[in-house]
Amino acid sequence: MTILDNQRVIAIEEHYYDPEVVKHFDGRDGKLAGFLKKTLLDVGKARIDSMDEAGIDVQVLSHGAPSTQKLAADIGPGIAAAANDRLYEICQTNPDRLAGFANLATAEPVSAADELERAVKQLGFKGAMIHGLTGGELFIDDQRFWPIFERAEALDVPIYLHPGIPHEKVIEAYLGDYIEKYPGFLNAGWGFTLETATAGIRMVLSGVFKKYPNLKIILGHLGETLPFLMWRIDLALNRPGNDGVEFRKIFSNNFYITTSGFFSDPALMLCIQEMSADHILFAIDYPFVPNEPGPKWMERIMLNSVDKAKILHGNSEKLLKL
Ligand code: MN
Repeated sequence: MTILDNQRVIAIEEHYYDPEVVKHFDGRDGKLAGFLKKTLLDVGKARIDSMDEAGIDVQVLSHGAPSTQKLAADIGPGIAAAANDRLYEICQTNPDRLAGFANLATAEPVSAADELERAVKQLGFKGAMIHGLTGGELFIDDQRFWPIFERAEALDVPIYLHPGIPHEKVIEAYLGDYIEKYPGFLNAGWGFTLETATAGIRMVLSGVFKKYPNLKIILGHLGETLPFLMWRIDLALNRPGNDGVEFRKIFSNNFYITTSGFFSDPALMLCIQEMSADHILFAIDYPFVPNEPGPKWMERIMLNSVDKAKILHGNSEKLLKL
């Protein structure tokens, strides 16, 4: 018998595609999923079979990037709401195995906040996932988006900040000359990290956690490098000439991180040391990462059984009320 045998395994960054949302993906976003598109569109038996084979009990489903973040304000809210209704139906086909994070059309922040409330109260969703820059331009810390965070705090649900492709000017200046040979440099190989770590730091700088002290933010990919960097960020932001901010304290308190697409022993150990196992949740990043290696990694990793149980299911049961 293995350690995982009698434990519930909940994976919380597990993607799918809604056929109507994905019709609007173009350019770099259209190319992103490539051969995985068929798997992303499958929310039926093959997905559950793959979960069974890997030993995953629950997938919390979220749309693949950039979801509804790049939809214009006039069409976005309707498309997001219809996608959420379909996601609800998907979850209803297997309510013990599937749960959902809402799609929000952030181009209309107040309507996105209303949709978050509807998705949580009427559809039973566990929070929302937001992917990268709204309209390919705007970081989510901008005050126009705060109605979403205000509502998330009031509903006591987390907002998952998922990577999207960086701003075109950043791609041009920092990444462009290598992405033909190494497309991964644009996404999980660095571009995603650059974009989402920046979003995480900007959230703290914006003061949103002063206004909404119980707001909970989830970052995937073991916190997008921020647990490793926070000591140094804290140092730099509190040097003379800076406004001063308790970056490390706020990050450790208001942020939760997941293991999505990052099954590294030393990286996880560092995250536990900086943030404690109470702030780390299990995730795969399916299907961008296959299911099987995740539970196997957790099974073999040198970690006490209490912390392992928190990461595998205890923390998500608490944070997502699963
Ligand atoms: Mn992902």
